[in-house]
Amino acid sequence: MSTLYIVATPIGNLGDFSPRAVESLKSVDYIACEDTRTSGNLLKKFGIDKPTFSFHQHNEHNKVDHVINILDAGQTIALISDAGMPGISDPGFLAIRSAKQNGHNVIVIPGPDAATTALVASGLPSDRYIFEGFLPHKKGRQKRLAQLAAENRTVILYESPNRLIKLLTEIEEYFGSNRLAAVARELTKAFEEVNRGTISELKENYEARSSVKGEIVVIIAGTEYKE
Ligand code: SAM
Repeated sequence: MSTLYIVATPIGNLGDFSPRAVESLKSVDYIACEDTRTSGNLLKKFGIDKPTFSFHQHNEHNKVDHVINILDAGQTIALISDAGMPGISDPGFLAIRSAKQNGHNVIVIPGPDAATTALVASGLPSDRYIFEGFLPHKKGRQKRLAQLAAENRTVILYESPNRLIKLLTEIEEYFGSNRLAAVARELTKAFEEVNRGTISELKENYEARSSVKGEIVVIIAGTEYKE
């Protein structure tokens, strides 16, 4: 029996890389990275020098066997993604499931994730929430939006900056223009910005900009929330 470590990495601010995360990465035999080049820069900055291999959404199914073979041989692996918590809109689940099914330990080293950071920063109810990650681009998108519009828990969505206006337009259509929401951009980074207001106010704000850049989380209040 060996151990698979799931290690959270910063979502922007390197000061959020925990000492325990760094120590665990220094202690393992291999580090599985979503992108070996991106993680290589981070690992170098923290003096972590371990063999790496790629583990991303396009090779995840094939690489799970490689992960299990290493664990079966008694060696340890840490899995990291480009940013934040592996397994949250990132690869991780398949390796974790397989490690457990094959009798190995899975230890999660917790740390930053954009979803709960944005939720708390939004000032919208955080006692009950639903994480949807990225909505499907085509098939099933409208149905998902309709379901989420009827949700009475706070909704968390990930979105890319070039699709933000389209998403806010759809949210306005399905949730109504007066629903309270927040857009969290570039969390933990130099240009961090969390805007809160009705959907129509937020849409107006972002439509008035010549461009929207950076990483984005959209938080939407549930049906019953009023201020
Ligand atoms: N595993 C990551 C986590 O724990 O949050 C999420 C990975 S997902 C591929 C990337 C998305 O997360 C981005 O498109 C954005 O929606 C969100 N995200 C990541 N970092 C962010 C940041 N610093 N500020 C705002 N959103 C961020």
